[in-house]
Amino acid sequence: MERGISLEKAISIVQLEKKTLSPELIHLDNAYGRILANPLNSKVNDPRFDNSAMDGWAVRKEDCSEGNETILQIVGISQAGKSESIRVGPGEACKIMTGAPIPIGADAIVMIEDSRPDNENVIILGPARRTYIRKKGENISQDEQVLSKGHYMDAASISLAATMGHESIEVFCKPVVGIISTGNELVMPGSEIKESQIYESNSFGIAALVEGIGGKPIRYETVTDSVEELRNSLDRATENCDLIITSGGVSMGDFDIVRKLMELEGEVAFWRIKMRPGGPPLFGKWKKTPIFGLPGNPVSSHLVFSMLVFPWFTASFGTHKNSKLTLGKKVRVKMLNDVKGAPGKLCLRRIKITNDTEGLIATTHTHQGSGNIHSMVAHNGFTLLPPDTDANIGDIIDAFWSN
Ligand code: AMP
Ligand code: MG
Repeated sequence: MERGISLEKAISIVQLEKKTLSPELIHLDNAYGRILANPLNSKVNDPRFDNSAMDGWAVRKEDCSEGNETILQIVGISQAGKSESIRVGPGEACKIMTGAPIPIGADAIVMIEDSRPDNENVIILGPARRTYIRKKGENISQDEQVLSKGHYMDAASISLAATMGHESIEVFCKPVVGIISTGNELVMPGSEIKESQIYESNSFGIAALVEGIGGKPIRYETVTDSVEELRNSLDRATENCDLIITSGGVSMGDFDIVRKLMELEGEVAFWRIKMRPGGPPLFGKWKKTPIFGLPGNPVSSHLVFSMLVFPWFTASFGTHKNSKLTLGKKVRVKMLNDVKGAPGKLCLRRIKITNDTEGLIATTHTHQGSGNIHSMVAHNGFTLLPPDTDANIGDIIDAFWSN
């Protein structure tokens, strides 16, 4: 077991335990946020045929002399969705709508605004442009591989898949993630609460994080600080889940049972990373299933998820560095408050990032304690201060800007 390792080293260990996910065929209606399990080729050319980018007149460019009015005889109307072929000969024009096929013989479009009708004729007042014709296949050719395996299906990608003629697509099955909170002090929100108790919150937030990045969360019942209860819950989860995430019980306390049980009966790859908050996470395997033991402090569990659990998902999905599957992005910000770093550790102070005329600026607003989940809502990012480094007002530093 490794102890007190850098975040980078921890990520590389976690990614070795990625899950091989099987593909499933889903309808485009359900494709939002899913990851392609196979490349997607186009069934058609895009555009499918030469068509007009404007409402106007399909003409022969040579008939129209720029700067002078030209009178052309109207020979028909080309409408989107109609396939009858119209022919434009010398001295002729065909009225045309956006998206309608270009009549045979025409090679340019005049915008409707640049014309005046005159009985059977049209008087052309402005330029005839070839660039107003959208050429067959200029965006995508038939059979071209357009989206690659590992592609994140955002709204535009879903439109693109439909444009290419796909009603359904093969995506990776959602990894099933079991979430188990531990702690004698925890009661469910909505229940009666005693003086020494707190509402259990981590499992809800972690489930939302899992869902947001394309996993299927299962929240198991909270377990008390009992090794037997935890063992039973882990055994149940390992039967149904691709990944287990526990919360709490991984520090040095007498009742930190996740660490104790994992050391005695599980396989621990590492415990503790050089990061604050979020120092004590544990990673390993329970039976066949990879398991993250996240710290109980709510801020810590969220931040460890962002920094360490998320890379397990990207490795399993095979998404690339610039994928739109993100929890945010690394940016440079100018600090408008002093923030303290941490000795020997990467330090993640919550900051509010705003776009100023000079660039991105960052401010702090609430108590920074790792128990204060409100700090994650009042702010929209966190610092990535290297070990032993404070930031002073005016310093430009690395930060993570959450989605
Ligand atoms: P632990 O890591 O178990 O020592 O817990 C650290 C702190 O986080 C303690 O103050 C706990 O009460 C709190 N905590 C642990 N689990 C949760 C949870 N599921 N929801 C909210 N707070 C928690
Ligand atoms: Mg605890």
